[in-house]
Amino acid sequence: MTTGTTDPVPDGSPAEARTAPVPDPAGGRPVLPPHGRVRPLGLAQVSLSGGFWGGRQHANAAATPAHCEAWMERLGWLANFDRVADGTTSPDRPGWSFSDSEVYKLLEALAWETGRTGDPGAQAAIKRLTARIARAQDPDGYLNTCYGHGDQPPRYSDLEMGHELYNTGHLLQAAVARLRTAGEDDLVRVARRAADHVCRTFGEDGLRGICGHPEIEVGLAEFGRALGEERYVEQARLFLDRRGHGTLRDIPLGRAYFQDDIPIRQADAWRGHAVRALYLAAAAVDVAVDLGDAELLRAVERQWERSVARRTYITGGMGSRHQDEGFGEDWELPPDRAYCETCAGVASIMVSWRLHLATGDVRYTDLIERTLYNVIAASPSTDGTAFFYANPLHQRTPGKPAGPGEVSPRAEGGTRAAWFEVSCCPTNVARTLASLGGYLATTDDDGLQIHQYAPCAVRAELPDGRRVAVDVETGYPETGTIRVRVAAGTRSPWTLSLRVPAWADGATVTEDGGTRPVSPGMLAIRRSFRAGEVITLELPMRPRFTWPDPRIDAVRGCVAVERGPEVLCVEGLDLPAPGDLDALVVDPLSEPLPDAAGARVRGRLPARPDRPWAYAAAHPADAEGEWFDVPLRPYHGWARRGPTSMRVWLPVSASGTSS
Ligand SMILES: [Zn+2]
Repeated sequence: MTTGTTDPVPDGSPAEARTAPVPDPAGGRPVLPPHGRVRPLGLAQVSLSGGFWGGRQHANAAATPAHCEAWMERLGWLANFDRVADGTTSPDRPGWSFSDSEVYKLLEALAWETGRTGDPGAQAAIKRLTARIARAQDPDGYLNTCYGHGDQPPRYSDLEMGHELYNTGHLLQAAVARLRTAGEDDLVRVARRAADHVCRTFGEDGLRGICGHPEIEVGLAEFGRALGEERYVEQARLFLDRRGHGTLRDIPLGRAYFQDDIPIRQADAWRGHAVRALYLAAAAVDVAVDLGDAELLRAVERQWERSVARRTYITGGMGSRHQDEGFGEDWELPPDRAYCETCAGVASIMVSWRLHLATGDVRYTDLIERTLYNVIAASPSTDGTAFFYANPLHQRTPGKPAGPGEVSPRAEGGTRAAWFEVSCCPTNVARTLASLGGYLATTDDDGLQIHQYAPCAVRAELPDGRRVAVDVETGYPETGTIRVRVAAGTRSPWTLSLRVPAWADGATVTEDGGTRPVSPGMLAIRRSFRAGEVITLELPMRPRFTWPDPRIDAVRGCVAVERGPEVLCVEGLDLPAPGDLDALVVDPLSEPLPDAAGARVRGRLPARPDRPWAYAAAHPADAEGEWFDVPLRPYHGWARRGPTSMRVWLPVSASGTSS
């Protein structure tokens, strides 16, 4: 635990000073609660310099926003705004009802980029896009390209699936990024008019509606924080309280699909559409913290606990069902039909980060690490112009590569695609990578906490004016050596806290000439520090077997291999013949061996003759076949060498021993 001193939720007291500086002197923070056990740092305080994440952030900045803007221009999603402005809307409007949100998520990514680097290209893109959006806003603040104009359906006539408020929520998040990185501008003014329209229309005396896709809540809450205006947070609370009472029409997937089946305070686990459930949970944490609602905070913690324990993949991926992109029941975690939408990974990080800021609990930043390496990092291609939407843990046949100019009609397929008909994931990856510096470290009254390890410079100030400045040097996760170099010495003591991941049994720390073992959790070192001194955390990176809970039926009898924070997988193209991946069994008594690319395990390929019926009276033999070293590589890198079959969970040989 950290040594924080502020209450996570002061009992019943409304948030006091909510005058977030505009723009944020910390360089912009995606989430800035007025209270919490720890405080987030901004993009000007934590700068990534190369390494695993710095490289990905650079590739993202160099290619992804321009890629997304070009696709949205080509498909007419941007021109939808022009049509509304020019009064030329028609029934053949291109894009789904939520295509506006992709423009807003792109704007959010661009805003974080300008905060991080001051990139003039990103600045110009923000101005260009904002001008087109602003023209489409109605005089009363309503802004949507799918409803309410010409022969389009009337405003708010399909709250279940129309995504109007969802779109507005993303507009507000983009405006928060802009406000905190650049201050008030046209985008912020557009967002304020839109937010005021929502409050007028859906306030206490207005329509008692909610949006089928939560997002307006999390957008309103942070917008209220950024402007220091509590009425937006209140509106978010109102939306949260209205949900779960059958407020929306029932649909074939059931009201659990949009979390309108049970009030959020009463739910025990996340259910229904995963991104919806998680955006709602993120908003609930915001509202709980701002309004001093400890019961609501505890409800989200309880849902996190049950869902992480029973409804989450080893990758951190969430969502077991394709039909509704949703959570399954407890233990329903099939690897081949795993949905694990990239956006659900983004949303899971949003929830865990908010819970961590409120409580300081390291389990949340542990899950963030798992999700970053095994969901977020898996999605984008190396050059940032193609993406995984679904992230299954088992691909039975190699996918068909989508052409670079093709819109992929479906979320699954085993290859990264340049764009999708439903293209929520690319812009979600873009905004997350652009703001990643904001998720690496925090401060409290007495020091600095480093949660995620990447080469970076951290420069922060504690509330009493003490400056904390360190540089992190590491090749993590390829190596487990993390050097934290103190950049500025201090006479007065402060506490440097380093997260030791839950998997890191056998970690050590070296400081002041001595080395000692450290346990998983938060390692806290409180003293004065000399400029230039180095504290070295050594995490054990030897690959290891990981066994599933036997109640996860779909992978009973299988084992996975992990190395550090990375889940590894076997790719079919590394085996002698296509189809071998179906027969592969591994020796559970051998130990995975380190390998430059990942790891090796002892495996063999028993003969699996085709039969007319796949079931037999006797347990099939698997003692045949020579043992050989099966190569494994990080899951996040799968299919980068071309289409391939792949699996994370490896069946163990029933007769296999290390003899
Ligand atoms: Zn998505």
